[in-house]
Amino acid sequence: MEKLIDIFNSEPRTFSIEIYPPKTEKGMASLHATLAELARLKPDFISVTYGAGGSSRDTTLEIVRLAQEKYKLLAMHHFTCVIHTKGEIKAILDQLKAHDICNILALRGDAPKDSPNWTPGPDHFKYSSELVQFIREHYGDFFSIGVAGFPEGHPLAADRDFDAQILKKKIDAGGEFVMTQLFFDNELYFDYVRRLRALGVTARVIPGILPITNYENAANFCKGCGASIPKKVHDLFAPIAGDPEKTFAVGTQFAIDQCHELLAGGAPGLHLYTLNKIEPVRTILRSL
Ligand SMILES: Cc1cc2nc3c(=O)[nH]c(=O)nc-3n(C[C@H](O)[C@H](O)[C@H](O)COP(=O)(O)OP(=O)(O)OC[C@H]3O[C@@H](n4cnc5c(N)ncnc54)[C@H](O)[C@@H]3O)c2cc1C
Repeated sequence: MEKLIDIFNSEPRTFSIEIYPPKTEKGMASLHATLAELARLKPDFISVTYGAGGSSRDTTLEIVRLAQEKYKLLAMHHFTCVIHTKGEIKAILDQLKAHDICNILALRGDAPKDSPNWTPGPDHFKYSSELVQFIREHYGDFFSIGVAGFPEGHPLAADRDFDAQILKKKIDAGGEFVMTQLFFDNELYFDYVRRLRALGVTARVIPGILPITNYENAANFCKGCGASIPKKVHDLFAPIAGDPEKTFAVGTQFAIDQCHELLAGGAPGLHLYTLNKIEPVRTILRSL
């Protein structure tokens, strides 16, 4: 399977789409329709999230395999190291390699809700940079490895500059590209890229965009991941929160404007967070 780093080295811009493994059998059944629709949209790649602690271990793998083998979509497998022992991590990576899954977003993840006080022991990794290093040590260049970036700083980082230095550690350990947390204010992204370049980080930084189609869900999602909602976004969406059609129209237009400005400012592509809803993605990609 093609490695993302090779695509990034030849394509100035990529368009990619993130999906998550459905939690129900019904959701898994309808995933075929989603993947078929994604295949028609022809993104450069899709990415499939991974439940921290391994809650979606089998389904993430199943979806990545299905996407690649049946729908001919290049798929990046997210992988979090929290809870897993080093032995488990090695076994999972061996499994990915056996299935020719060679694109990974290497993450730490957060302690799952059912073990909120979990702390890493000697047989665990504390940070994602250790996971990246482990993958490089054991698998050389087999995997193309992406890491998570936080234009606003990770919620637990002391400040944005410290957070940028942490990002540099992940790249120095073997990360090849950065996928960012969602944001609504493009200046956060441009400022982040400037700070990374000043530290000598040359890796591609792909901005993550969330089209708002349900304001309450979007606000909850942002709360969960620590992304801020600017006042202008709140003022735009709060008054129409009860009107799904208006929210869809305003949300997709907001995302389209945001994407245009990012591309015009030099962003090397876009990664759309779909929350498994394809319609906004279709509208946005058509417009771009
Ligand atoms: C694009 C993207 C995709 C994501 N996909 C998923 C997913 O599929 N599943 C999921 O569960 N979660 C996912 N997440 C969420 C992610 O797991 C959490 O944000 C998590 O809290 C941080 O993961 P990380 O890989 O950035 O961790 P790390 O890079 O380990 O950072 C975690 C914290 O530790 C600090 N830190 C790191 N290294 C050091 C060090 N050497 N010294 C001191 N402090 C340090 C950082 O500043 C940060 O505060 C995703 C996030 C993004 C942006």
